[in-house]
Amino acid sequence: MAEARQLKAGRWRIYVGPGLNLVRDPSTGSIATFDSLAAACQWWAQLRPGEAPLREAKRCARCGGYFGPAAGWTLYAGRYYHPAHRPGALDTPAGPRSGAWEAQGRDGGGAGVLVSVDPDLREQGR
Ligand SMILES: [Zn+2]
Repeated sequence: MAEARQLKAGRWRIYVGPGLNLVRDPSTGSIATFDSLAAACQWWAQLRPGEAPLREAKRCARCGGYFGPAAGWTLYAGRYYHPAHRPGALDTPAGPRSGAWEAQGRDGGGAGVLVSVDPDLREQGR
């Protein structure tokens, strides 16, 4: 499974598999980077014609950050959120770590930095 993620600078990269490995350009050996999602999709379709089309990774509807392999997400009213960013989640005291969630989410941005989520927090979102 491949997914595209936009970097803070606005460019796009392709990640594959559960470990979100960066895809490299076989011809140059360097990390494949694209100016647009469309360009990334086109390149991916030619590289791996047999695989599912590339699509953008899910983003948190609140902070716009992507979800990493270790980060949980929750579905709320048809949109994806970090469990701590789900509407209503910030209104309830979430313990001493609640402040750290927000900062991590913002800094995580489009760079693929991961926001870790405790399994028990993930369960609360259901
Ligand atoms: Zn978020």
